[in-house]
Amino acid sequence: MGKTRSLICRGLIPLLAWVIPCHFIMAHGHGDPADERAIWEWSPEEIKKEVTRVRAGRDLTPESWPDDGRVAVSLSFDVDTEPVWMGFQEQSSPSYMSRGEYGARAGMPRVMALLKKHDIPATFFIPAMSMELHPQIIPMIKKNPRNEFGFHSYVHENPMRLLPSQERSVYLKAMKIFEKHVGKKPVGFRSAAWDLTESTIEIVKEMGFLYESSMMADDRPYALISKGVDTGLIELPVEWILDDWPLFQISWPSSHVALRNAEDVYSIWKDEFDGAYDEGTIYILTMHPQVIGHRYRIAMLDRLITYMKSKPGVWFATHEEIARHVKAASEK
Ligand SMILES: [Zn+2]
Repeated sequence: MGKTRSLICRGLIPLLAWVIPCHFIMAHGHGDPADERAIWEWSPEEIKKEVTRVRAGRDLTPESWPDDGRVAVSLSFDVDTEPVWMGFQEQSSPSYMSRGEYGARAGMPRVMALLKKHDIPATFFIPAMSMELHPQIIPMIKKNPRNEFGFHSYVHENPMRLLPSQERSVYLKAMKIFEKHVGKKPVGFRSAAWDLTESTIEIVKEMGFLYESSMMADDRPYALISKGVDTGLIELPVEWILDDWPLFQISWPSSHVALRNAEDVYSIWKDEFDGAYDEGTIYILTMHPQVIGHRYRIAMLDRLITYMKSKPGVWFATHEEIARHVKAASEK
């Protein structure tokens, strides 16, 4: 499995590697690349050990949210621009990269205008190279001092393809660029693959992050456990159904843009919000300015925010504000 996996992930089957994220192919992988045994040949102990490498710990939903909130809503925008095509999708031709350019050039102004209209903050996870390529987005985001900048790789490289030493050094390189543009360190980490290598948690801990936002074990915030030990990191989980990329961008099995009706996405996202509201937990959306920033999609997001604001007790916050509140409440 190890050899096949690495061949696919190294692009010898480029179409498959494009359509299927490498972390999907690696879902049955395991820690020892030299171990070529099929999964059914493993012992129960070996399978349990593999499963428990990263797990969800305590539910960290607090008793209450600030501002008499019944639910915490946080919008995140991953400003991936060209790097997501170059680094993750391995498509560096002009047309693919122009989609990324669209995110900075057309998408971001629409996103910022919508947030301003509703007077709500957001969290922006930005690869370091997006900052270098489009430095004008930084002052746009800083206009609202509540907005948060989160860490999101160097050039949207796939960490599942990096050795531990490479992953560490590329994140340190990215951090220098991040600090140069933002003026301070981030507290939030989001993996470019929405997945963690054997080393990611250790590196993220070393770098001093407060929270992680790439896992999917719950709809509620939770303590992130690694190899049976509480890492001290707060997990703010994500979900593919709450992400504009698979809903609008990828059309299986073609690599072209999905022509999804915005009403379908509105229906999913509204019902998910209603559930989060009833449960009193969190509602986190992941969006990309190059995807959500198209006109009919921004109009849908406008309607969704308007709907959420029509309910009493909706606390719009950044991921950092939620993580800090959750952490303080869990220590009481
Ligand atoms: Zn991304």
